[in-house]
Amino acid sequence: MIDTYERIVELVKSSERIVITSHKGPDGDSIGSSLGLYYFIQQLGKQAAVCHPDEAPIFLKWLNGVDAIIPFESYPNHVRDLLESADLIFCLDYNSPERVGQEMAQVLLAARGKKVMIDHHMFPADFCDIVISETTCCSTSQLIYELIDQSVNVDLINENIGTPLYLGMMTDTGSFRFPSVQPRTHDIIADLLRKGVKHSMVHEKVYDSNTLDRLQLRGFAIAERFQKLNDFPVAIISLSAADLQRFNYKKGDTEGLVNVALSVEGIMIAGFFVEKDGIIKISFRSKGDYFVNEMSMNEFSGGGHKYAAGGMSADNLESTIQKFIDLVPTYFS
Ligand code: 5GP
Ligand code: MN
Repeated sequence: MIDTYERIVELVKSSERIVITSHKGPDGDSIGSSLGLYYFIQQLGKQAAVCHPDEAPIFLKWLNGVDAIIPFESYPNHVRDLLESADLIFCLDYNSPERVGQEMAQVLLAARGKKVMIDHHMFPADFCDIVISETTCCSTSQLIYELIDQSVNVDLINENIGTPLYLGMMTDTGSFRFPSVQPRTHDIIADLLRKGVKHSMVHEKVYDSNTLDRLQLRGFAIAERFQKLNDFPVAIISLSAADLQRFNYKKGDTEGLVNVALSVEGIMIAGFFVEKDGIIKISFRSKGDYFVNEMSMNEFSGGGHKYAAGGMSADNLESTIQKFIDLVPTYFS
């Protein structure tokens, strides 16, 4: 593994046009790993372009470097040019090309540059030249730290690199409480704090920066759009496009609602269904002996981890929820 990390850093040093990509529907880890790597590459004396399928959510706009992200949805031609002329392309925090959206996936797959996957999702697809796939690692941001550390560049870590890596590790571990946290995770966090990362600022920016609309949308979702199944430890929260509009939905406003459903006493499996851009986007969470990745993959064109997975559906909201309810006995008996 050390060899692979060293090889990647050698590739960075010998490349002229580097592009960093990550998955659609950006979260703390996709943005954090991308910007951590972006600033690390700068410290190595090189430049990289960060090309994501879509824009960062508002709750992450405070982060240094977030303005450098070029969203494919707004600048398709620019991103196409960058990908086509890249000699090195990083694929961070996703395991298969369709996670960047169909259109961008076509450009990515056709691009001639060397592709490097750094990811922690199960079942990596075979589309990259170099693959770091560590499915027991809590976050891709932790793997970017490993890349920096194991290539003996840890002294290069400054606040610009450390802050997004802290953010990604924090958000993908539910603030360091999920089973995916390892002693190594805390070792790394300790080092990031030594390097000047202001951890309480990151928590405050992410968790204590609600708009009233956001809070009211969440309150509404819990009060009016929550259902618990009778014979199974399953809870569902769903929001229609009209619900979102009523509370002036902004990207990121529903983040974590699925965990709220899972936190209800006795609930072991939670589903969050939201009508967005003409499709239903689904998030699943579970705990204990219940795993949601298989159902997501088989039934909702998705995938993910055992305890956190997702997918989508082209049916309407009501039939999608009904489909899930009908599948519960098959997958969770
Ligand atoms: P979230 O619910 O936070 O959107 O996603 C949780 C996890 O589920 C993600 O880290 C990802 O592994 C997986 N996931 C969510 N949506 C999709 C999807 O549409 N396709 C695939 N393959 N995985 C997804
Ligand atoms: Mn991740």
